[in-house]
Amino acid sequence: MTSYADFHRRSIEDRDGFWTEQAQLIDWQTPFNQVCDYSKPPFANWFAGGKTNLCYNAVDRHLATRPDQNALIFVSTETDIEKAYSFRELHSEVQRMAAILKDLGVSKGDRVLIYMPMVAEACFAMLACARIGAIHSVVFGGFASHSLASRIEDAKPVAIISSDAGMRGGKVVPYKHLLDEAVSLSAHKPSKVLMVDRALSDFPKVAGRDEDYATLRAKHMDTLVPCEWVDSSHPSYILYTSGTTGKPKGVQRDTAGYAVALAASMKHIYMGVPGETYFSTSDIGWVVGHSYIIYGPLIAGMATIMYEGLPIRPDAGIWWKLVEKYQVSVMFSAPTAARVLRKQDESFLTKYDLSSLKALFLAGEPLDEPTATWISGAINKPIIDNYWQTETGWPIMAICNGVEPAATKFGSPGKAVYGFDVRLIDETTGEEIHEANKKGVIAVEGPLPPGCLQTIWGDDERFVKTYWSSIHNRVMYSTFDWGVKDEDGYFFILGRTDDVINVAGHRLGTREIEESISSHTNVAEVAVVGVADQLKGQVAVAFVVLKDPSVANTEADAKKVEAAIMKVVDEQLGAVARPARVRFVHVLPKTRSGKLLRRAIQAVCEGRDPGDLTTMEDPGALQQIKDSVVS
Ligand code: AMP
Repeated sequence: MTSYADFHRRSIEDRDGFWTEQAQLIDWQTPFNQVCDYSKPPFANWFAGGKTNLCYNAVDRHLATRPDQNALIFVSTETDIEKAYSFRELHSEVQRMAAILKDLGVSKGDRVLIYMPMVAEACFAMLACARIGAIHSVVFGGFASHSLASRIEDAKPVAIISSDAGMRGGKVVPYKHLLDEAVSLSAHKPSKVLMVDRALSDFPKVAGRDEDYATLRAKHMDTLVPCEWVDSSHPSYILYTSGTTGKPKGVQRDTAGYAVALAASMKHIYMGVPGETYFSTSDIGWVVGHSYIIYGPLIAGMATIMYEGLPIRPDAGIWWKLVEKYQVSVMFSAPTAARVLRKQDESFLTKYDLSSLKALFLAGEPLDEPTATWISGAINKPIIDNYWQTETGWPIMAICNGVEPAATKFGSPGKAVYGFDVRLIDETTGEEIHEANKKGVIAVEGPLPPGCLQTIWGDDERFVKTYWSSIHNRVMYSTFDWGVKDEDGYFFILGRTDDVINVAGHRLGTREIEESISSHTNVAEVAVVGVADQLKGQVAVAFVVLKDPSVANTEADAKKVEAAIMKVVDEQLGAVARPARVRFVHVLPKTRSGKLLRRAIQAVCEGRDPGDLTTMEDPGALQQIKDSVVS
């Protein structure tokens, strides 16, 4: 067996040889003639000259060997619908959806925005786009009209696929009015909107624009749509993520590099075997959903579970019941979900036969030791933390048990994953840190391995400026995370270097939330910071200076204004971005040059020392923050 150290070393030192081997894990229509064209750094063009198709690799290629095996298992504990699709059935559904898209005028390179709950049709839609070479952009169903509008405006979709509603905790969450409002706010208008009507919520139709999925599906029951072979670098999707400005960044992914990276990760990291079942509890609106609900497991010939519902409804045993029923071998979730389960009776987790399960992978936010210890004890399975970002599409750090089994260390997402030349950099000097346990910025030497972002959609300059220009004197990819590495090469993540916060594993930009709150007529100034939270890891807390503070003079009045501000965020960005608390102050802590002292505010909120405050304009401002937190 190759040692992991050798495996990783080879991935960096013999990049071409290494990735040529990994590229055999997928099917090609035309083989590539160059492994990595890095002639225009930091833009990497993987598998140049090749042609393939993501949908072909996820669906069609399995028809010969496993046509009747489960491919997609849709489970909704909200609507009590459970339906499994074999690879053959999935193939038919995807072709129907692809035929509909063609009918709606979508062709290769066009964008299709998908704003849907966790329903099987969302999976068909993603695969159908890949099939015809259209570029999908899935927007998380929890985002509201303003968030959606900015994405529509940036991606300029020809068509949008949506649904009447999602459901959460037994409550219907209507989508259509938010979509209509988003389209009216956006300068770009899609020509068609395809509605998957779940009969959960009535919605108005826009004549000439809105089409009914069931009607068009019936028309295309037997239509065959072949895969469009696309260049390796053809964009497969755009996925928006928050940054430090109010404008979300469209992470653009290629086709071949992504397929190879996912196929390799299923083997080396997740140890998924064809024919087994993979269960990722994420949502298709996030990167984990793209990589490990849809594409990764299907490319590997596994069945994948798509789950609509909460982890504790009808009770906290639901996920484990599914593990038993579908013989799940690999499970992927987030630390917050584990913390939610920890509040329930442990017997819910132990009551089912989990013998098929090899490991539970957790990612998206720091995994604290008590949670890791608890869940590994409760299910008696290895818990494998892995660290990555929307940008990378697959793990930067993990334990690659598929290469060489290795111990995990609590609090660490493991070692640098093959293909990632990870370095720790001193923030001020730009020098590499070689010393063990010394804090630095986690950076990656270019080229990034296959599967990572190609660029920011429509904005190459922002891609270079944002990710490749922040390390002093060096052209390196910055993760914007702090970290340390111990003597054994295990990394520990110490939080973001920028103003991005992480609530229950979801990345939110504080700027976006601030901009939304600022639109409230009585808000003069606002600062949003992420504050440590026992359940969600972090929550957003807003500090607001009101134009007319008298409206929040009493506690009851302050509560009313707080609710009104939260409502603005709910309506514009979605409940996912709603701050946990809105506090009122008369002045915000700033430097003399007017920069908000967010880290000091955060420190005060968490009861830590705010550090050097010599540049602070008004020393009393921080005291107000302190008082408002205590009150
Ligand atoms: P997102 O792109 O939304 O997945 O957020 C990525 C960010 O989440 C990273 O830059 C980290 O700050 C954080 N993150 C992801 N996975 C982990 C992990 N395993 N441990 C600690 N932080 C993580």
